[in-house]
Amino acid sequence: MIAPGPAAIPAFDAARVRRDFPILGQQVNGQPLVYLDNAATTQKPDSVIEAIDSYYRCDNANVHRGVHTLSDRATQRFEQARQSVADFIGSPATSQVIWTSGTTAAINLVAYSWGHSRLRSGDRILVSWLEHHSNIVPWQLVAAATGAEVVPVPVTDEGEIDLSALDTLLDERVKLVAVNHVSNALGTVNPVREIARRAHAAGALVLVDGAQSVAHWPVDVAALDCDFYTFSGHKLFGPTGIGVLWGREALLDAMPPFLGGGEMIEQVAFSASTFNSLPFKFEAGTPNIAGAIGLGAAVEYLAGIDRQGAAAHEAALLQRTLELAEQVQGLRRIGHPRHAAGIFSFLLEGMHPSDLGMLLDQQGIAVRTGHHCAQPLMARFGIPGTVRASYSIYNTQEDVSRLFEGIHKAQRLFA
Ligand code: PMP
Repeated sequence: MIAPGPAAIPAFDAARVRRDFPILGQQVNGQPLVYLDNAATTQKPDSVIEAIDSYYRCDNANVHRGVHTLSDRATQRFEQARQSVADFIGSPATSQVIWTSGTTAAINLVAYSWGHSRLRSGDRILVSWLEHHSNIVPWQLVAAATGAEVVPVPVTDEGEIDLSALDTLLDERVKLVAVNHVSNALGTVNPVREIARRAHAAGALVLVDGAQSVAHWPVDVAALDCDFYTFSGHKLFGPTGIGVLWGREALLDAMPPFLGGGEMIEQVAFSASTFNSLPFKFEAGTPNIAGAIGLGAAVEYLAGIDRQGAAAHEAALLQRTLELAEQVQGLRRIGHPRHAAGIFSFLLEGMHPSDLGMLLDQQGIAVRTGHHCAQPLMARFGIPGTVRASYSIYNTQEDVSRLFEGIHKAQRLFA
């Protein structure tokens, strides 16, 4: 008898995935929509829309402490979502998954709670030049209040963090290194595990802004060995207004509350109040219940697709993009990172990014233009902004072709 060979693994089918996202079936300006603004926000599959819809239609009630059936159902769905997210990022415990309104709120939580209680005059926070404003400004605010200093880590002309410059900066004054996992402006995938190793060796903590990574490949926070990890639901096929702060349990436990109010307390008296355990200590007030349930549905959706295949598919889209870009006269790619996620940032000679963005929109192609909330990085490259096409699991090679047809047409119209 001949032993059966290994089962054939079906290739990742982006066209099939695309059908799960109802918004993508429409025409924009008379053309089938090509949505290439995924780094700003992703579209939502039916299962996420249905989870939010069914929550409001069937189970809506406030969570925790309720004695009635709807409250119990809402609480179960809300906490099940936390469990799904914990599984999705490899969190050792659900108590380490704190709901926030997004990445920005998660970073601010750490900056205020950890930063205000730990930072002193003369301490340093290192942030890379690749950072989004939301991983720069919260640190500037806490630095202004504590006397600490925010010090940028240079990036190379390729758009990668300069690791030898990082080594030079890492001394005993540094208390935290804050870096993104993927640059939203250039697509650079940063070696965050290696950065964490170097930072820890110097006695510093590491916060990773994962806003642009979690949608592209499986992230395991324990394997990355970072101290804090943050991301937003809306860039991960979930709703807006929900996000996650993940942190090491001992650190979160030792941190004082950020916002005070209902839910985050154990006992309140005018003489003094005591605080709830994790994660509730950091979840004051009525949370975004529908948002959490929607995000739970989003990560459950991703658990059902071939994520390695999806990552390879996105890499192939970027590869084709780079090939076609070579054939466009006057196109300048910004940054040439060796390891890039599906983000392509560029300029066309003689054309303002927003003009190109509008000409593409007229052809049904959605891209983002501007500084991408990364003004220091734009200044580093001496440019006011870029045009950015960013890919997701539902984009196809047809979308890439349409982008370049659109660019060529815009060039003809502009000539
Ligand atoms: N960090 C990065 C790398 C981002 O791309 C973004 C969103 N563009 C943010 C932080 C902020 O995310 P949010 O607006 O969802 O809080």
